[in-house]
Amino acid sequence: MLRKGDLMFYRDYGKTGVKVSILGFGCMRLPEYEKDAKHYMDEDKCIELLQTAYINGINYYDTAPYYCHSNSEYIVGKALKPYRNKVFISTKCPCGDELQKPSDYRKQLEQSLKKLDTDYIDFYHFWSLNKGIYDNKVLKLGLLKEARKAKEEGLIKHISFSFHDKPEYIKYIIDTAEIMETMLVQYNLLDRSCEEMIAYAASKGLGVAAMGPVGGGRLAAPTDLYAKLTGKPSIATYELAFKFVLGNPNINCALSGMQDLDMLHKNLNTVKSEAVLNQEEWEQISQALDQLKKFSDLYCTGCGYCQPCPAEINIPHIFNLFTYHNVYGLTGHAKNEFMRYLEKGKTIKDCEGCGYCESKCPQKLKIRRELARVEKVLTSI
Ligand code: SF4
Ligand code: SF4
Repeated sequence: MLRKGDLMFYRDYGKTGVKVSILGFGCMRLPEYEKDAKHYMDEDKCIELLQTAYINGINYYDTAPYYCHSNSEYIVGKALKPYRNKVFISTKCPCGDELQKPSDYRKQLEQSLKKLDTDYIDFYHFWSLNKGIYDNKVLKLGLLKEARKAKEEGLIKHISFSFHDKPEYIKYIIDTAEIMETMLVQYNLLDRSCEEMIAYAASKGLGVAAMGPVGGGRLAAPTDLYAKLTGKPSIATYELAFKFVLGNPNINCALSGMQDLDMLHKNLNTVKSEAVLNQEEWEQISQALDQLKKFSDLYCTGCGYCQPCPAEINIPHIFNLFTYHNVYGLTGHAKNEFMRYLEKGKTIKDCEGCGYCESKCPQKLKIRRELARVEKVLTSI
């Protein structure tokens, strides 16, 4: 089949020896339908969507055992079967209760191979690592050895991990495991907490794919952010979000969870001329973001040292929502998220007055006073 690969750009995926498309396909929101309280993939739509992505040059597909009510791997395997040796399939080994003994790793891998109907997985991730899981499962059960063995047998081409924890543990995992070849991590314009560790991973030769390049939809809403940051005419925040992620030379692929052809074409248009920021523009925006945040009247870095609060108030989250409104102009999103938080989350009215948070805050914020102020603003905007 004719490929329009000229619309796509490719980058070396670290030192893996392969080149991945700068736009990767996140397969967690593929078209489904519900019947008799059961979920099924809309096969025709899924196949059209995934094959259209391939025709337009996307060669990296990221799935996982539980995506789309546990049907994603199956449909990804089916749709990409005709192009299997021209695409890279990434999936994940669940690291929760599924792993109780070393052989459970192989069991998970075999289940994925079967569902994907393939002989090998290109990038097999330890799924959603944090320090606890890494220490207590991956290391304790000797799973690195299992992964190495699977790679030697050709069942896995590259050993990878996805990550959700404090950024500094990225270095810990890379340095102690010594076999990680690629990493999947949350990174976008609003969440740059892993930026330094992304650079570290790249310096160690790992390929890096970014999840959530458009901030889980937060950056889909139009704002005057670009104009505010650069003094230039506005562009869609969505476009800026992609440009920013891909403007970081240490990111090789921006993964986007695409659910229909409209979204696929919108993303293809955004990345087609590799319309990413050049180094100078990227640095200008990075600095402008830092400045904007610093000059705001509430500079919370999100370090989390104020946690855990005995009253379970999620202080960094509340302050972060205020930043969305106050700094980035994402007012609708901030308000909606705060309303969602209020359904179960604790607020300043639950504060026990222990003072722990303020004694720990490196920014010396008057946290209790700020919580009261911020919560008032977020409920009245
Ligand atoms: S002072 Fe209030 S907000 Fe701060 S840690 Fe104590 S209970 Fe939590
Ligand atoms: S300790 Fe201070 S800067 Fe860090 S998350 Fe808490 S409030 Fe924000």
